[in-house]
Amino acid sequence: MTRVYNFGAGPAQLPEAVLLEMRDELLNWRGTGMSAMELPHRGSDFEKIAHESEQDLRELLAIPKNYRVLFLQGGGRSQFAMVPMNLAYQAICMAYMDTGVWSQFALQEAQRYGNVHLVASSADNHYTDIPPQSSWSLPKEAAYLHYTDNETIHGIEFPAPPTGYGFLLVSDMSSNLLTRPFDISQFGIIYACAQKNMGAAGVTVVIIREDLLQREPFPYTPSMFRYGLHAENNSFLNTPPTLAWYITSLVLKWTKKQGGVSKMAEQSQRKSAKLYAFIDQSDFYHNPVEAHCRSRINVPFILAKPELDQQFLKEATKMGLANLKGHRLVGGMRASLYNALPESAVDALIEFMQYFEASYA
Ligand SMILES: *Cc1c(COP(=O)(O)O)cnc(C)c1O
Repeated sequence: MTRVYNFGAGPAQLPEAVLLEMRDELLNWRGTGMSAMELPHRGSDFEKIAHESEQDLRELLAIPKNYRVLFLQGGGRSQFAMVPMNLAYQAICMAYMDTGVWSQFALQEAQRYGNVHLVASSADNHYTDIPPQSSWSLPKEAAYLHYTDNETIHGIEFPAPPTGYGFLLVSDMSSNLLTRPFDISQFGIIYACAQKNMGAAGVTVVIIREDLLQREPFPYTPSMFRYGLHAENNSFLNTPPTLAWYITSLVLKWTKKQGGVSKMAEQSQRKSAKLYAFIDQSDFYHNPVEAHCRSRINVPFILAKPELDQQFLKEATKMGLANLKGHRLVGGMRASLYNALPESAVDALIEFMQYFEASYA
């Protein structure tokens, strides 16, 4: 059995080099006679993993000194609650952009904690666009502005972060952190679960500006949901997800070795441009998203004959192109092109799509 190209949206393909490294280290991590996940989390060995991964992430993203990096549990979705619980106590409102399913989830969760002001929504056009900035409604008194940098399901990505409005900006970058460089200093909080570009499910990275740790959370906020407590304890408030953290540490080293985030950005650009160009010249495949905000990371597409969906998936799987089924909310197909997916996978996908079109159109 050879490995396949995995286009799954997450948990996603990991770099093969990382899997091999894990295998080599499985019984004996750096001469300790233990695997990484058997190390006591407060011992100096695991601390090395924790320290190196933070340093590597800081280097990769050029994270300024006045930001803390937290390695937490609970996935991206816990952040939907943690953000308002920690930032919106006694706030008049919170501002949310609605550009797809993930921002919807975030917005709905925030409604438990106060007034959510809808800045703009692309629900009316079925999430195929980002509303023009001229149409945004921006309440000056909002505790923060939340948006989803890349909508993993609808395949929409902000061309650039919505900065310059004087808001404390909070960004869900679960599916595109490490795929392009950006200026961290424009943000209050950036969060991302690891299972897309940064490792395996179980760990979530939160990059938070230091002064925000002083904000008073809602009084009933559980300890595990307090950024301040996690920061005071250097992400060791309780037993961290050591296996997932270790895998992330390996992926970060791999990312550095590949040439870092700017290299990943070049590759993402090339991989996605190729696929969109192919889809656009075909009458058989279609991507509905406006060109200026098409995601470089998740490319949904539909077939002109949806009755062929099952056949498409069956034949693709047979060719070693796995997990192309689209999310049930949008249907059709979706090719996720995360960092670990090589360009050869996109070439193979395009070749298969050409063959399928020629056979069935
Ligand atoms: C995957 C994803 C999430 C959810 O992450 P979980 O770890 O499953 O909670 C949140 N936001 C975006 C944009 C995602 O792609």
